[in-house]
Amino acid sequence: MITIATKAEMRAHTAAARAAGRSVALVPTMGAFHAGHHALMRAARAACDEVVVSLFVNPAQFDEATDLAAYPRTEARDAAEAEALGVDVLFAPPVEEVYPPGFATTVRVEGLSDVLEGAERGPGHFAGVCTVVAKLLNVVAPDVAFFGQKDAQQVAVLRRMVADLDLPVALEVVPTVREPDGLALSSRNVHLQPAQRERAVALSRALRTAQEAIERGERDAGRLREAARAAMAAHGVEPEYLALVDPDSFQPVDTIDGRVVVAVAARVGHTRLIDNALVQTHGGDPERAPTTTKEP
Ligand code: AMP
Repeated sequence: MITIATKAEMRAHTAAARAAGRSVALVPTMGAFHAGHHALMRAARAACDEVVVSLFVNPAQFDEATDLAAYPRTEARDAAEAEALGVDVLFAPPVEEVYPPGFATTVRVEGLSDVLEGAERGPGHFAGVCTVVAKLLNVVAPDVAFFGQKDAQQVAVLRRMVADLDLPVALEVVPTVREPDGLALSSRNVHLQPAQRERAVALSRALRTAQEAIERGERDAGRLREAARAAMAAHGVEPEYLALVDPDSFQPVDTIDGRVVVAVAARVGHTRLIDNALVQTHGGDPERAPTTTKEP
């Protein structure tokens, strides 16, 4: 594995790979790798000849300076793990390389960016995500980019951006990797104290409660939300939001018919956690279904 810090070297590397007829995968990350990141890297390794993992803690998508300052950074360990998983390139640019003096452009997806995570974290969050991902796609120029279902709204926003800007890339979505008790892996989980770690199971319990009720035939979003909220309260956790939304528009649904995302966010202590489940009413497991979006 080689580590690249500049856009010019990264572009040259992809150009050479492409000239040699090799397909290129990109896995965008903010580092502090866990088994969720590993799953994305394995999927990329299985799909493409050349695997690029970007590691960039993007200041533009943080709404709280304290969150950015406290974000875990474990670069040496990350590099060793990526190498062990067969990654070819770790693209780890410094902040000035991504945002040089005079930088003034923002990519914003209207509507989708303003609800749930966008409403809680502010309008800058998804604009920060879109701007950096658009830049990474332009610099790395991958055939396929890999993202986690863990950040379902991010996936919906990025699909919209890729379609609207005619970006020549396929998006591949990898199912959420969880701890044995159901807690979705997150780089922020390291901040949970032992008692908080126990309560953090509330989010996945809420999702499971809603999912099981849907499987038993419940179709009313209001009743599903109440059942899921009660499951969280049993662990002493109040949601910031708990919503049943359309997987593409992220608009609330009243009656479940087809595919629905159950999305939840909550603070446990000072740590903000999010989770979601993609559920469908007629047969199959939507999180296991093929999700590649081909270029239009
Ligand atoms: P991050 O480093 O937190 O920005 O995440 C990088 C990528 O890993 C994003 O596409 C996330 O959705 C994905 N990811 C984070 N946690 C998980 C998880 N538990 N399972 C699967 N993918 C994840």
